[in-house]
Amino acid sequence: MTVLPFPSKRASAFADVPDEKWNDWRWQLSHRLNTAEEIEKIIHLTDSERKALSTEHLFRVDVTPYFISLIDPDDPDDPIRKQVIPTDCEMVTFTSEMEDSLAEDKHSPVPGLVHRYPDRVLMLVTTQCASYCRYCTRARIVGDPLAQFSRHEFDLQIEYLKKTPQVRDVLLSGGDPLVLAPKILEEILTRLREIPHIEIVRIGTRVPVFMPQRITDDLCDMLQRFHPLWMNIHVNHSNEITKELAQATDKLTRAGIPLGNQTVLMAGVNDNVHIQRKLVQDLVRIRVRPYYLYQCDLVHGAGHFRTPVAKGIEIMEGLRGHTSGYAVPNYMIDAPGGGGKIPVLPNYVLSMSDHKIILRNFEGYIASYEEPTDYTPSMAAKYKGLKRPEPGQEGLTALLDGEKMVIKSEGFDEIHDRHGIQHRLKDEAKWKPLGIGKEKDL
Ligand SMILES: *Cc1c(COP(=O)(O)O)cnc(C)c1O
Repeated sequence: MTVLPFPSKRASAFADVPDEKWNDWRWQLSHRLNTAEEIEKIIHLTDSERKALSTEHLFRVDVTPYFISLIDPDDPDDPIRKQVIPTDCEMVTFTSEMEDSLAEDKHSPVPGLVHRYPDRVLMLVTTQCASYCRYCTRARIVGDPLAQFSRHEFDLQIEYLKKTPQVRDVLLSGGDPLVLAPKILEEILTRLREIPHIEIVRIGTRVPVFMPQRITDDLCDMLQRFHPLWMNIHVNHSNEITKELAQATDKLTRAGIPLGNQTVLMAGVNDNVHIQRKLVQDLVRIRVRPYYLYQCDLVHGAGHFRTPVAKGIEIMEGLRGHTSGYAVPNYMIDAPGGGGKIPVLPNYVLSMSDHKIILRNFEGYIASYEEPTDYTPSMAAKYKGLKRPEPGQEGLTALLDGEKMVIKSEGFDEIHDRHGIQHRLKDEAKWKPLGIGKEKDL
């Protein structure tokens, strides 16, 4: 294997820590930094940061010694620093911010289980993380040591999954599932694997990034007993890609776990096409496939991170075609109010006629693609057995399938009901004198 050029860093304040402690995830967890006094020993705090750190009711602060070591101590604009060190911008509210912007609570049949999509669920298994992201979408539940999910709630989650056979994919998140005690994580995976209709399990985690020491051989041995298991990590900037992270992703991929990455697009962190291109290229070097690039959610405390959507489209324009397809994520807006994830991308289709489509490529080259005139779709009847019922969620696919002709907004029928007489033209007696009224004329 090629030796990768990613650095390994340790802040000078930790120089005396013996390697076996530094490399032990339990040491990293128990030596997290959370006060101005502690953090000031590592980086030079700005007034805004010091003010935020002395504020009550701030979203929880905690940074592992490993992760804080990646910050340039003298650069107030360091992209890693902005992710984990609070500033007083967090106290600023903005219009349209919400506590639960994705309406996850509304979509939870039992506490901690979000069933938003037909065939998959999000299962929140802990409120704890290795470090806390300042832009956390789930700040409403994450970080509070008293708000843990109980065993009773876990039992309810498993019960719901057992009696809901359309769920074939369970996404473990939180909080961060990889900070759970190993035995508890193993129990969760065991209970999920006892449910025959659950085909895949995935874990969303930032532990490999905050605390790569946690990715031990023991953990990988345990995880691979539960295949097919997939994992998404969360890297926002190339500076997070270190020798330690590369070792962690190497172990995970050798354990057969396909790795994806989710990035949040953030002002001052990664809102630039060159930063994003380097990020995705560095990710594929450590065998992590960029999965989603998210528009920042409308969550309190994250207003200063938001960018216009145009910035995300500009970044996608600079990725697709310009670099390996494997390195190009999908840009997603998680719709406020629980609309779910919606992909947004530049326009590549310029126009169409009945048998021709006009396309442009990433360079601006414009081509016409001649479509077939003799196409017969494969027999729908043959695929009947593959069709899954999706109660109440047919939407656009039902229009395409021909099962429905229209989708109406709420109250449409009432607003447009002018009490007119239906099917007037069928009333032959009335219309015959005018010479119309045959069915085929209608
Ligand atoms: C993101 C998410 C999923 C998974 O979505 P994919 O697009 O399949 O990755 C599932 N449930 C909820 C509630 C989510 O927010």
